[in-house]
Amino acid sequence: MGQGDDGSPGLGPMVVEDKKEKEPFKPIRKSAFMNYKKCPKKFWFSYFIHGEDYWNYNESTSKNEAAAKGDIFHAEVDGFYGQIDYELLYELTNTTKVIKYMRDKFSYSDTYDTEKTEMDEWFDWYCETEAKRFFFFKEKYPKSEFLEFFPPKETEWQVTMKDDIDRTGHIDRIDYLPNEKAYAIVEYKTGKSYDPKRPNNLSSLRAECGFYAIICNEMKLLDHPVHYWILYNPRLKIYHVERFPAATMRAVNNAYKGLVQKVKEAGDFPRKITPLCMWCDYRRECFHGLPGEPKKYIIPRTLGKTDDTERQED
Ligand code: SF4
Repeated sequence: MGQGDDGSPGLGPMVVEDKKEKEPFKPIRKSAFMNYKKCPKKFWFSYFIHGEDYWNYNESTSKNEAAAKGDIFHAEVDGFYGQIDYELLYELTNTTKVIKYMRDKFSYSDTYDTEKTEMDEWFDWYCETEAKRFFFFKEKYPKSEFLEFFPPKETEWQVTMKDDIDRTGHIDRIDYLPNEKAYAIVEYKTGKSYDPKRPNNLSSLRAECGFYAIICNEMKLLDHPVHYWILYNPRLKIYHVERFPAATMRAVNNAYKGLVQKVKEAGDFPRKITPLCMWCDYRRECFHGLPGEPKKYIIPRTLGKTDDTERQED
């Protein structure tokens, strides 16, 4: 404000300085990126309209039984590897004993003695799968290398890459594949829809893992490149390992650049109406308009049903 000669506030010309800095763009999480690929409008709601919930999305996933089971599975598996005594495990020679040793590390077995639940079966399958991996490494490598290669390289790993708009996310796990001298992004999925035998789902899973592989490789976060991705789906009992097709990496990078441009230019984020709208957090606003706005959308007459609820995760 201008000042009078006596130092009091005067009426002279005022220089109004706009000190309000432009808010930087929020980093784009992997799950937000996947939202964008599935439905640009869903990304728009989460990024621009419900920005206050953007970082808390994972905390509110237990809205139904399927999502709650997914959360429990993730939490249990995250704690699993930290409880294993690898020297002791290495000495076990019998498959049943290895599975039992692993199975006892999970706390989710309250009902196991009386009634085996679906989740008990998930953990049974997980331990059987890890036991196969255990014997593969044990038979192929000397003890010192087993101890180096069998445990995951990282679990629950937060990664961020500087970019026009930063990319970020949580990787469930990183494994080293010594034969290939490369790392693999490991994803845990518990929904029926995460089935790599279905082509659409396969390309979506590749893109999710590819998002992380690009961060690891471009930032050189590991001592070898990430060339593979691995899926564990205990509900479908699927353990899937695959090398990333080069086309996936190109497609993910191009889609990311397109998203960044749209965010910066406040471009159009159209709706993509599919049966998954039934489970979308933003369906009310999407079909009826934001509060205070005139209704501008048509409610689709039929949305059919999918066989599962998708868990949102990084
Ligand atoms: S309700 Fe459907 S169209 Fe609307 S934002 Fe959600 S997924 Fe997209």
